Amino acid sequence: MTTTATTDCMIDMQDIHKCFGDLEVLKGVSLQVRRGEVVALIGASGSGKSTLLRCTNHLEEPTSGIISVLGQPVDGKTENILRVRRTVGMVFQQFNLFPHKTVLENVIEAPMQVLGVKKAAATEQALVLLERVGLAEKAGVYPHKLSGGQQQRVAIARALAMNPQAMLFDEPTSALDPELRGEVLKVMKDLASAGMTMLIVTHEMSFARDVADRVVFMADGVVEEEGIPSELFDHPKSSKLQSFLRHVA
Ligand code: ADP
Ligand code: MG
Repeated sequence: MTTTATTDCMIDMQDIHKCFGDLEVLKGVSLQVRRGEVVALIGASGSGKSTLLRCTNHLEEPTSGIISVLGQPVDGKTENILRVRRTVGMVFQQFNLFPHKTVLENVIEAPMQVLGVKKAAATEQALVLLERVGLAEKAGVYPHKLSGGQQQRVAIARALAMNPQAMLFDEPTSALDPELRGEVLKVMKDLASAGMTMLIVTHEMSFARDVADRVVFMADGVVEEEGIPSELFDHPKSSKLQSFLRHVA
């Protein structure tokens, strides 16, 4: 059990604590994501979901605990931080596209700057990715001309351009009008079907039920309950989870 878990483990977080001053927002969280697994992270606002996600690629430094990605440590060492950011893509609630660059330029930027890919090859790959997120015809357009849903799909293509081994999503549809959420969720669902390893913070419970292999419910800085979607949503054990589900339903 332990052996397979280790070799198969893409993201491994052990007993993560994180304090901001006197405030302890993560109180010993352990979470593993296996290769090809889709894990949805749910919980009330302020429960520590974003902080945990940001610890994965060292956008936040845990106060204590051990994180490894693909068996390599994610600690304060520059080489390790750079490696995890090359290996694991992240998509935020705010799309953070470069406003003065076209869609295509946004997507080829990191492969060229970080991986040293030549412009022609980066462009060829970017067009394939834009096709995959349904935006090939927008390659020459600037972000402000796009809807929020389209911008978020560009942000996903941009993350994929680094050929990540896993993807982190932090409420990728929360900033979008409800009618634009579906197109982003569809791209994520396709990615999951293609076998991408994904850790997704989301308030979209029907998406989590549909797409996640496992759902992790956080409350007050700990993993309160986890399980397969049908178990967790239909037979929640913890009273905090029962209450959370009543409120989001
Ligand atoms: P969630 O994503 O579940 O809403 P967060 O991880 O964003 O929760 O936040 C957990 C707690 O940590 C909140 O109380 C939040 O105010 C606090 N927090 C998050 N980031 C910082 C920070 N950089 N400095 C101080 N407090 C923070
Ligand atoms: Mg958050």
